[in-house]
Amino acid sequence: MSELLRVENLKVYYYTMRGVVRAVDGVSFSLGRGEVMGLAGESGCGKSTLAYAIMRLVPPPGRIVGGRVVIDGADVLRMREDEVRRKIRWRKVSMIFQGAMNALNPMHPVWYQVAEPLIYHLGLDRDEAYRKALELLSMVGLDESVARRYPHELSGGQKQRVVIAMALALEPDLVLADEPTTALDVVVQAQVLNLLKRLVRERGSSLIIISHDLSVIAELADRVAVMYAGKIVEQGPSERIYRAPKHPYTRGLLRAIPRLRAPRTKLSYIPGQPPDLRSPPPGCRFHPRCPHATELCRRQEPPTVEVAPGHLVSCWLYAG
Ligand code: SF4
Repeated sequence: MSELLRVENLKVYYYTMRGVVRAVDGVSFSLGRGEVMGLAGESGCGKSTLAYAIMRLVPPPGRIVGGRVVIDGADVLRMREDEVRRKIRWRKVSMIFQGAMNALNPMHPVWYQVAEPLIYHLGLDRDEAYRKALELLSMVGLDESVARRYPHELSGGQKQRVVIAMALALEPDLVLADEPTTALDVVVQAQVLNLLKRLVRERGSSLIIISHDLSVIAELADRVAVMYAGKIVEQGPSERIYRAPKHPYTRGLLRAIPRLRAPRTKLSYIPGQPPDLRSPPPGCRFHPRCPHATELCRRQEPPTVEVAPGHLVSCWLYAG
């Protein structure tokens, strides 16, 4: 599988009145063409900021302070803003923002919202864009009667389908989906996720699906990366992460997933809270919550070790 995206030692900080928040702090990973990667972790661990940085859309007071984001061989962080707008954003990489279905413009019918990027980026006239928008809406299972409605006339699942159609309109190589199903009920969630996976597969696009819920990611991803306090602490093929998780944080997250078919056991949880990223703990950032923490963990940041092909863990338990 050829490489589409490479992120190297990426750092994104927010410069707030109350201090510098190290939201993404030295993140590295790569993604193959057509690959689906799940990015998991608790709220506030930096997942969304990482996605915004890939799009070069980090909102102020955030700044990308270091690292590289290479898409198809081009370093996006070194490009001029107008180049990113013309060549990268929406054409190469599109994003389904968290809560995007609630951000549809209430003043325009659905078809126009799908057609707008086609008019703006591809220069289609209104009739062509309308026809293409209908095709895209039909691809996500919505017919012409829905196309002429306004967002408030749609159900949550229908709105999320519209947002997916918008994200795929320019046939991007990579789609970033940030918590795409949180506001939906479980049945509709499954339908929307399966639709998203099928569409990116059919088009040969890559997908990064961001969720705090590892069970959502398990359904979709070829590979999983787990983030904690601004860093990726474990990444590898989904099979391995679910069957043989190594990092104590990943194990804790997996134990916290309720299982319908398992014998009745008490649901487990990870004690404590994620750290304040203005002053993260020294050494391993997970040490205040880790049952295996040692003096070394408290003092020194763990190295990243490859414990099996493509399975990387940042934890002293596996170092040497
Ligand atoms: Fe726990 Fe130490 Fe591993 Fe961090 S490095 S996860 S504190 S064992």
